[in-house]
Amino acid sequence: MAKLNENFLTLEKNYLFIDIAKKVNSYKEKNPDKKIIRMGIGDVTLPLAPVVVDAFKKGCDEMGVKETFKGYEDSGSGYEFLKQAIANYYAKIDVKLELGEIRVNDGAKADCGNIVDIFSDDNIILLTDPVYPVYADSNKMAGRNIIYANSNEENGFAAMPSDISIADGEQSSKFKEFVAKNVAKIIKPSIIYLCSPNNPTGSVYTKEQLKLWVDYAIKNDAIIIFDAAYESFITEKHLPRSIFQIEGAKKCAIEMCSLSKTAGFTGVRCGYTVIPNDLKIGDVKIADIWARRQGSKFNGVSYPVQCAAAAVFTEIGLKQIHENISYYQQNAKIIANTLTKLDIKFTGGINSPYVWFKCPNNLSSWEFFDYLLTEAQVVGTPGAGFGKNGEGWFRLTAFGDKDLTIEAMEKIANLLAK
Ligand code: PLP
Repeated sequence: MAKLNENFLTLEKNYLFIDIAKKVNSYKEKNPDKKIIRMGIGDVTLPLAPVVVDAFKKGCDEMGVKETFKGYEDSGSGYEFLKQAIANYYAKIDVKLELGEIRVNDGAKADCGNIVDIFSDDNIILLTDPVYPVYADSNKMAGRNIIYANSNEENGFAAMPSDISIADGEQSSKFKEFVAKNVAKIIKPSIIYLCSPNNPTGSVYTKEQLKLWVDYAIKNDAIIIFDAAYESFITEKHLPRSIFQIEGAKKCAIEMCSLSKTAGFTGVRCGYTVIPNDLKIGDVKIADIWARRQGSKFNGVSYPVQCAAAAVFTEIGLKQIHENISYYQQNAKIIANTLTKLDIKFTGGINSPYVWFKCPNNLSSWEFFDYLLTEAQVVGTPGAGFGKNGEGWFRLTAFGDKDLTIEAMEKIANLLAK
């Protein structure tokens, strides 16, 4: 008899955004003439940059000519022209990468989820809470033990090693207290996921904070999986855009990045993972094991998509994508300014397309979701969907249309001023 991986039964029934879509659709059915403004899901709305479209088309044209047609890519890890473009991009922030340290993929989500394949199931996983659900789900699917570092109002939603707590369990209060105090000594997490700028909270680690995480990982022989999907939204120059800007990180970190938000590739699909040659467990190079895994389960990214991705990193490409990014940043400012006027606490919005704020009047995240949907027809994302510390908080995204963002924020301001 076929047997199920029963770990799947431990997952939340639906992915968060499916629950949101159900609620919105049901409201829409009952109120067909109401205009709904969506600021929930983190999908982009602006089109690809012209130089990217040209390169995409040129790649397609080459596929239609016998002499330039491409089949399977030899390495499946990305064409050299794209890996060189990525390495040059990193060089601008003084991070030197070998081309063999970069692997191109069809978006960061797959690698974020699939990387669990190469690590043993008895690793202890450390996530920050609230968390991008993929890190938690992919480890739960493998039946791993997960512990959390608490991101909360006190630490500006940027959890540090000192904020590590234990996952829920059956323990006496005395034991819980003891463990809470000594958890870093008792339980040593071996795989640590960090996301900066953070989804959902918009917080960004400083270089000093990341150095503490790197030191912590090295001290505990742990590996950090650093998700830099929103690095291009960082405007304050002193903030790190890559973990490899931190001394020692090449010995303990893997970095994942995506062109989805950077260059509007959510429907095109392209990202990359960097595994430094220095990253090893014993004598084994992690990059070799990941290459072996990908060799068996992944056949590379299409040639036209890689042409489009390489165009992002050209001088003109970077200029054009930054026009889109600044458009979203202006939206974030509009959201943040409204919240400031309403005297509502929030994080994000400056170096991130996400604004994360405290639900007014002590409403729970889902209560506020319903209130906003029914009274202002604005859709956001309840913070509780990202973990227990998200309860009572709410996420709005800046990826929408500017006029609609203004309209939504006016509606929210009017509603909350009542
Ligand atoms: N990492 C984070 C933190 C994200 O928010 C997302 C998408 O929303 C991804 C990774 C995945 O991006 P993609 O698969 O589109 O490259």
